[in-house]
Amino acid sequence: LDGPGDEDYFGAYDSLSVHALMLSDEPRVGVYLAAIKANLESIQDKVVLDVGAGSGILSMLAAKHGAAARVYAVEAVPGMASLARDLVLRNGLQDRVTVIQGRIEDVELPEKVDVIISEWMGFYLVHESMLESVLVARDRWLKPGGVMMPSSARIWAAPVEVEPLRREIERYSNLHGLDLSPVGEAELARRLREPQVETIEAHRLLAAPVLAVDLGDLHSLKCGGTAEFSSQVSFFTLRAGHAAGIAFWFDVGFGKLSTDKNVVKLNTDPGSPPTHWQQTVVYLGVFAPVEAGEELSALVKLKQSEENPRQYDITVYT
Ligand code: SAH
Repeated sequence: LDGPGDEDYFGAYDSLSVHALMLSDEPRVGVYLAAIKANLESIQDKVVLDVGAGSGILSMLAAKHGAAARVYAVEAVPGMASLARDLVLRNGLQDRVTVIQGRIEDVELPEKVDVIISEWMGFYLVHESMLESVLVARDRWLKPGGVMMPSSARIWAAPVEVEPLRREIERYSNLHGLDLSPVGEAELARRLREPQVETIEAHRLLAAPVLAVDLGDLHSLKCGGTAEFSSQVSFFTLRAGHAAGIAFWFDVGFGKLSTDKNVVKLNTDPGSPPTHWQQTVVYLGVFAPVEAGEELSALVKLKQSEENPRQYDITVYT
């Protein structure tokens, strides 16, 4: 459990500013509150486990607005667990919220729980690999028939343009009458080697988004089920342009995303209110010209990195 990358991973959460950023991400906090209110019958007078409680926000929302009988707020980072304890006291919720410092994989709870609530999502959904800890918690502590919040999650993809960068790189092919294009190519390679987390405006999408990965029902997803995904996708271009990369983002649902239109959901797509997750772009290394109505096929692979399983290697084969 104390795997490669874990020290950096938990170290990053030992920072108030990271938690402040998440607390001020209103689409994020707001959807959990909406989900608590929409699922009152599952939470009221029930026992809730908050996996990775951080500041304790979800635990406190479940106690205050969900009227949970008891909430166990489990947080690995000692500084955050003590902050959560202070905030629970400050809000007078100490009779119902118990903060437990430790990794969910290691701690003992006094009882099994009716509900697991957790905000485990990372960039492009699975960065940080925290979902695995939530699945371990589910198998150890959730009562049969218990509720996972959220309970479904998907990764979406679409080809995108980056016109300012394309124009900047193209200038090297005719700089004062000189062809310096190798400089442009090297610049492009240097700048776009790694996937970039950035905000994509909806108008930069060249095709309608397609579903790349559907994790299905988190009540039944197997432990280890997030190690690797691969998916053949086909995009249909809506207009002419230059495809610079494939953008990825996610949605999660408190209920079944695939079948229930009215499910409470958090959508981090380019058209939705912006969140701290933004979108993640894997660059193709070229600006591929496309016409309207073309089919672009790609094989998308996300694989937990061997050196650091908190990260994924994302490859797009076109
Ligand atoms: N629930 C809070 C924090 C979310 S960030 C909120 O919504 O604002 C995720 C938190 O989970 C971090 O504070 C991190 O330290 C904690 N965490 C991640 N994996 C964990 C594990 N295996 N056991 C306990 N805490 C964990």
